[in-house]
Amino acid sequence: TVAVLGSINLDAVTVCERFPTAGETVIGRSVTFSRGGKGANQAAAAARAGATVTFIGAVGDDGAGERVLAPLVAAGVDIARVRRVPGPTGFACVTVDGAGENTIVVVPGANAAVTLDDGDCAAIAAADVLLLQLEIPPATVLAAARIARAAGTAVLLNPSPVRELPDGLWAAVDAVIVNHEEERALADRLGRVPHVITTLGADGARWRSGSGTVTESAVRVAVVDTTGAGDAFAGALAAAWGTPPRTALRQANAAGAEAVGFAGAERHTTTHPTSM
Ligand code: ADP
Repeated sequence: TVAVLGSINLDAVTVCERFPTAGETVIGRSVTFSRGGKGANQAAAAARAGATVTFIGAVGDDGAGERVLAPLVAAGVDIARVRRVPGPTGFACVTVDGAGENTIVVVPGANAAVTLDDGDCAAIAAADVLLLQLEIPPATVLAAARIARAAGTAVLLNPSPVRELPDGLWAAVDAVIVNHEEERALADRLGRVPHVITTLGADGARWRSGSGTVTESAVRVAVVDTTGAGDAFAGALAAAWGTPPRTALRQANAAGAEAVGFAGAERHTTTHPTSM
């Protein structure tokens, strides 16, 4: 079983010819609503890779929660441990202009209120793998890592977005999954982590541990959109945890490649807000 603790968002992506300036209104070309948030994206990816997955997180009481959870259920993820909290569901407002540049406003909403209750702690302790990212409070990430460590659950951390972390966290982590930039930003911390898995975009991925370094090249695909490739990779890697590094890297690369072949973080998107 893989337990994923993290964020879930409603993403709204609008496309317009050019960005509005302050005080201006422009007419957009299209709008797409989809389920986002690194936690939810990685949970869906782990389920698609064949793992039994429990997602732990929170949505608001604004109606968006049910809409973002539905595709997670469809992906086969257990959402029994998702809490409803007062206030908005996490929300990302993305605007893309004619040149493909984007602006993003993220409102953490319910994600900022994720804490662990006894049931969550039991689910983490019972899991084989705990997969974490950094879009929920660092104190909750640390608490979960310590519970997992004490219970013998493997702790996998995708330290994204890079932010200040409680020092004790690194001692409770078995593996980190980083991209090239994150690896550079965290170089002085990663020396303490037994397994460092680095994604290398079109060059595949690398696994460094005490027993050496394994590199696997990427699957060749026609790239549509690289959004979400890292999350697909992380979810699939968690699902493959326990298999030899080369096998796990191959499966994770396959998931990453599949993600870059689709537009958006999640392929189950719709341009109609009520049919999600
Ligand atoms: P991030 O999107 O988090 O920066 P990467 O760009 O390193 O992460 O991509 C994550 C993984 O997705 C890679 O390790 C690889 O498996 C896959 N991937 C990314 N870009 C490509 C590509 N152009 N062709 C094939 N696979 C890719």
